[in-house]
Formats: sequence, structure tokens, C-alpha cells
Amino acid sequence: MPLINCPECSTRMSDQANKCPHCAYPLKSNTEIAVKNNEGCFLQTLNFGCMFIVVTIGIIFLFILIMSMFS
Ligand SMILES: [Zn+2]
Repeated sequence: MPLINCPECSTRMSDQANKCPHCAYPLKSNTEIAVKNNEGCFLQTLNFGCMFIVVTIGIIFLFILIMSMFS
């Protein structure tokens, strides 16, 4: 695999690396990585939000069920 010099610190590294192992300078098409990261964050936030809503509804439902059993 070909070696390239880091534009930030001039460390020699593989051009297959996502970022410089020395200074963590991002290498591979930055926009592509940014889009993937944004998508991941968005999906993770969505999943967490859905889980939070489901858990909250479940707790409220259980609370109502217990209250109706004891009243
Ligand atoms: Zn570097």
C-alpha cells in the first residue's frame, strides 16, 4: 500500500488510514466521513428518543395498572 505524508505533521502513513496515527488529522474524504457521522448520530438520537418514549409510556401504564389494582 502506498505511503503518504500527513499534511499536518508530515508523518508517513498508509493512504488507507482514516486519520493520521500521530496527530489524528482526518484524511479520507472528510465530507463522506462527516455525512456518515451525522447519519449515525441522527439514528442513534432517534433510537434513544424512541426507547425513552416507549419506557416512559410503559412506566405510566404500569403505574396506572398498579393504582387501579390497589384502589
Ligand atoms: Zn499527522
